[in-house]
Amino acid sequence: MVKTYWIGAVQAGEHDGAEVELKGWVHRTRGSNNIWFVVLRDSTGHIQCVIKRETVGDETFDALSGALIEASVSLLGTVNVDERAPGGHELVVGGGEVVGPVNPDRPFPITESSMAEAEGGETEFLLDNRHLYLRTQRMTTMLKLRSTVFGAIHSYFRDLDFVEYQAPCFVAGAVEGGSTLFEVPYFGRTAYLTQSWQLYAEAAMPALERLYTIAPSFRAEKSRTRRHLTEFWHAEMEIAWAGNDDVMQHGEALVRSIARTLLDEREQELASLDRDLDSVARFADSPYPRMRYDEAIETLQGVGVDIEWGDDLDYSKEKVLTADFDVPHFLTHYPRIAKPFYHRPDPDDDKYVLCHDLLAPEGYGEIIGGGERTWSEEEILERIDEEGTPREPYEFYIDVRRYGGVPHAGFGLGIDRVVTWLAGADHIRESIPFPRDSRRVTP
Ligand code: ATP
Ligand code: MG
Repeated sequence: MVKTYWIGAVQAGEHDGAEVELKGWVHRTRGSNNIWFVVLRDSTGHIQCVIKRETVGDETFDALSGALIEASVSLLGTVNVDERAPGGHELVVGGGEVVGPVNPDRPFPITESSMAEAEGGETEFLLDNRHLYLRTQRMTTMLKLRSTVFGAIHSYFRDLDFVEYQAPCFVAGAVEGGSTLFEVPYFGRTAYLTQSWQLYAEAAMPALERLYTIAPSFRAEKSRTRRHLTEFWHAEMEIAWAGNDDVMQHGEALVRSIARTLLDEREQELASLDRDLDSVARFADSPYPRMRYDEAIETLQGVGVDIEWGDDLDYSKEKVLTADFDVPHFLTHYPRIAKPFYHRPDPDDDKYVLCHDLLAPEGYGEIIGGGERTWSEEEILERIDEEGTPREPYEFYIDVRRYGGVPHAGFGLGIDRVVTWLAGADHIRESIPFPRDSRRVTP
């Protein structure tokens, strides 16, 4: 049963005066014993439908006017252009039926007042009813933006002949440090859920040279923040014969192209969330400045932030740093001691590594982390040993470097964070259908 008519197309004036069949869900109702108004919703929009007893007959009138909020219905009628109707069109109903009713003992629980209570945030009640909350206007809009962001990422890499490549989700070792590793019982052994595709991508680098993925990564983030999920969607890339600068250029171009695609394809949706379109245009068009870690530390110390050289920059620090920018900016050259073993030391000064983070403005913080990889056997062994990491789980990773290692680099972009930022949402939970954090794996 394929739908022939979309409410969005009707509201766009594609079927004026025509006889159509509209299928969707009852969004709102009002009326009397003889005339009933239903605002019908589908995935593309809303339209007011007018049902008259004298036109449709008693049986149909009683059935349709008895349909509760979120019942699914199919309505036949004529599209009437009417300036006064929301969207400029209404359906004058000639017949129809209820397809999937709603039990009156269990009315749809997500009401305007339950949403008003949440004030754009999400109460536990809305999270408990996430499976139903998905069909609200705000969530539907977020999911459409999310889909467009995924599409933009695929297009960016495929247009440049990158190969999409998959790594396993069950792994033997950490990428981002042990404290956020999820352990999984694995036939009498312990496996972990992957934190990143990177190490397995590096193994395929000599085969494919330019590769990318969009896949979930898992991190046991204990604290619940506005920017951490335990399962998030990670767009990662890796390229051979390339360094930190090359992948920073890709990161910048990718984020700009995501912002541009949203403006081209989802301007209306962005506006419906009150996202400032000029800001999104700036993210698409203006260059992203670069700052070295040392400069960031000076800036932070200059405004009285308690931080020492060598410390990693957590969110509270990123927030201070992004205050001076109205576009994303890069932070580069972190101290070697602050970063995992796979980051390549800077040949000009090996206190630093050749890496970068991209920080989104407006207080959103890190959206990309990346850099150049340690690529010779000698250097990787030195880095693993100085970090005190066991070699064993990384044997394959070390082995790759024994056979024609070449300079290479890559980055990971947190898609949920990018959606949250570009939509102007408050919390990362808003960007994903079923958010996972330390307290919630349901529904
Ligand atoms: P943070 O310091 O904010 O926890 P990170 O340094 O651990 O981030 P990376 O390991 O560099 O992050 O991961 C690459 C990207 O993946 C990050 O820039 C971010 O956009 C995203 N990311 C990392 N952890 C999470 C998470 N728990 N939830 C959502 N996105 C994440
Ligand atoms: Mg982290």
